[in-house]
Amino acid sequence: MNIASAPKPVSDLLSPEASQAAATGVLTVDLDAIVANWRKLEKMAVPAECAGVIKANAYGCGLAPVASALAGAGCKTFFVATLDEARAARAALPQAAIYVLDSFFQNCGDAYAKINARPVIGDLNELAEWDVFCRRSGWEGGAGIHIDTGMNRLGLTITEAQGIIPRINAGDHGITLVMSHLACAEALHHPQNARQLATFREIASLFSGVPASLANSSGVFLGAQFQFDLVRPGAALYGINPTPEADNPMQGVVDLKARIVQLRSIDKGETVGYGGTWTARRPTKLAIVSAGYADGYFRAGGSNDGTRGAEVIVAGKRCPIAGRVSMDLIAVDITDLEKNAARRGHMATLIGEGITVDELAHHFGTIGYEVLTSLGPRYTRVYKGGAAAGAVAQPAAAATSPATAAS
Ligand SMILES: *Cc1c(COP(=O)(O)O)cnc(C)c1O
Repeated sequence: MNIASAPKPVSDLLSPEASQAAATGVLTVDLDAIVANWRKLEKMAVPAECAGVIKANAYGCGLAPVASALAGAGCKTFFVATLDEARAARAALPQAAIYVLDSFFQNCGDAYAKINARPVIGDLNELAEWDVFCRRSGWEGGAGIHIDTGMNRLGLTITEAQGIIPRINAGDHGITLVMSHLACAEALHHPQNARQLATFREIASLFSGVPASLANSSGVFLGAQFQFDLVRPGAALYGINPTPEADNPMQGVVDLKARIVQLRSIDKGETVGYGGTWTARRPTKLAIVSAGYADGYFRAGGSNDGTRGAEVIVAGKRCPIAGRVSMDLIAVDITDLEKNAARRGHMATLIGEGITVDELAHHFGTIGYEVLTSLGPRYTRVYKGGAAAGAVAQPAAAATSPATAAS
């Protein structure tokens, strides 16, 4: 999405109240819940430091407001994926250490130095290029080193990592973090966890004096031996269950409502939506709700005559989706609601009131991460709590202009 060239949203022309009233969908992000989740993880990780992962627009929740709220709670180290995200993060975080996870590119050194961001270097070529930049410019802002211990995605091999130990021992090496990433942390008893732990422990011990980090959200729950000097939770901050084999220890963060744009009644035997895949088995009342797959409400959440789909809460009750999810709309079977309980213009709840991100992910055939990072740009973002109480921001504004959402 090219944010810069997008036309101004209607909400820019309206007061926050009118903007919400005009919104087809309202996504409320509870910054206090994010902070509570961070504090819980921080407590679990002590004496290790608890960082905050805010890549992908803070998992769809809004980079600037989330960054400000976490910094306000005492979070001092942040991880993003890209340099653009680092720039947005720096605007919201004058003090924090910011690491950029997704590799270093030649000739980008100045861009890192300009915003005092640290690349996470995952390859010897990157390291050489970074060293050239630092030598020529005199920049001493530091960099992380990523070591691959079994994920086979980013990072130096163990042999490559061993090759830079003499440099570490010589001092003045410019490495501020040594890290690796777990491939199977959400499965408590997966044998790969112990293997990666053993490998990382051995190599990290050779990086003497350099802080070490292995655990993502789920890794924090694998126990103290996985926590090293710094933990890097993302998903759990945003309410995704880091322990999918057990109850969710985190608070829900996101509430998503979409407008009922029409009510209609159909006869037994009529079908609903594209393909006519859902047939009314009785005289049926429908609420047509203004969210669809273009908003990140995945098409896989639809239903047909053989399979139930996702559920939506209308007037306090769970109601099933009728038929396929369209680009902008879903149909909800509200036959079982009391007469007149649902009204045109009311909001239906897609996430919240007991419908979790993880539940929706299950219906969509995916994981909570993909649900959150797919939440569409058409929703009006509203922030609750934190430093940005009451702020309303479009996601583009939230990602690029912290002044609109954070104070
Ligand atoms: C995304 C990411 C994290 C955060 O992972 P969660 O599972 O969301 O907690 C941590 N470390 C790295 C390297 C990542 O890419």
